[in-house]
Amino acid sequence: MPKQELIGLSAQRMQQLLTAMGEPPYRGRQLYHALYHEQQWDLKKILTLPAPLRERLAQEFQATLPQVEKKFQSADGTSRYLLRLADGCRVEAVQMPEPARTTICLSTQVGCAVDCQFCLTGLMGFGRNLTPGEIAGQVLLLTEKNASRATERLNLVFMGMGEPLLNYENTLEAVRLLSDPEGIGLSVRRMMLSTSGIVPGIEKLGMERVRPQLAVSLSATTDVMRDSLIPINRKWPLQELLRACREFPLRSREKLTFEYVLIAGVNDTQDDARRLCRLVQGIRCKVNLIGLNPGPELPFKTPPDELVVRFQQILIHKGVPAYIRKPRGRDIFAACGQLKLAEA
Ligand code: SAH
Ligand code: SF4
Repeated sequence: MPKQELIGLSAQRMQQLLTAMGEPPYRGRQLYHALYHEQQWDLKKILTLPAPLRERLAQEFQATLPQVEKKFQSADGTSRYLLRLADGCRVEAVQMPEPARTTICLSTQVGCAVDCQFCLTGLMGFGRNLTPGEIAGQVLLLTEKNASRATERLNLVFMGMGEPLLNYENTLEAVRLLSDPEGIGLSVRRMMLSTSGIVPGIEKLGMERVRPQLAVSLSATTDVMRDSLIPINRKWPLQELLRACREFPLRSREKLTFEYVLIAGVNDTQDDARRLCRLVQGIRCKVNLIGLNPGPELPFKTPPDELVVRFQQILIHKGVPAYIRKPRGRDIFAACGQLKLAEA
């Protein structure tokens, strides 16, 4: 019989498992603590548990992380990990070290069904949803591989492969696991989930007690343009999307982030910048501008830097905080929208 996977299970679930084995509930909590807090994945080495129980656990269960199939190292310090999951499916995670902090970009699905016309993940189509353990496992793996404790200044962004709000329950369960102070213990304030604009998901997220910050990929200022770039806009057009953003209950000092991928000659005019300001008016927010990361398969071009700066200036002039996201790891296909399981 195949062994049951433990990574991804909640404290409550582990307690249930161990009580079903005839053990007291605190043994479940010890197991949970050993796996997620101490990151001891060799069940035989969990010394807080009695030896016979360790043996039995090792026979029936396993604690496994995604496997690194390949690691690509960018000149700017970014690493892209090509990961293999238990069933052979592959996803990617990206690690971006900076002097004061590290950011890990996580995948939530194999491929993506949204099919944004400027995104290489979209071109792959949809495979399947990741489980909570496969999502949280990316963090456990990358922090282990870099010998840094998971609790160091670590930012998590749910911006890798996939649309997190189309894998809502598993993504939120992963967030709860990653932020549980009894376990991995990362701060939800340092987590950001990015969505292409799944309105019911945004509404649901707003009601969560434990939730990451929200980023919305706008990338167009008219429905005609957004319909053509991000097909789900036909289902949830700009007006509805912005209503959901306006109603999103922000915490004190929290801002909503809008991402805007600038594509040369498509959505990068001064009129677009002005329309963008009008769209986000009244929302406590900032805008991250991302110059299109190119790919040979894409029919689009990156606008010149001066144009990106001019776009930014218009936003700032109108009182909308705007930042230019500098591309990381473009040389190894690790930048936004470039995750396509490239093997070189
Ligand atoms: N599916 C989610 C999160 C993953 S995509 C979403 O769409 O928001 C993460 C970010 O990369 C999004 O803001 C998306 O607009 C952006 N992106 C996609 N393709 C890109 C490209 N070729 N160049 C730059 N950014 C891109
Ligand atoms: Fe999916 Fe996001 Fe890429 Fe769109 S940009 S195809 S939603 S991963």
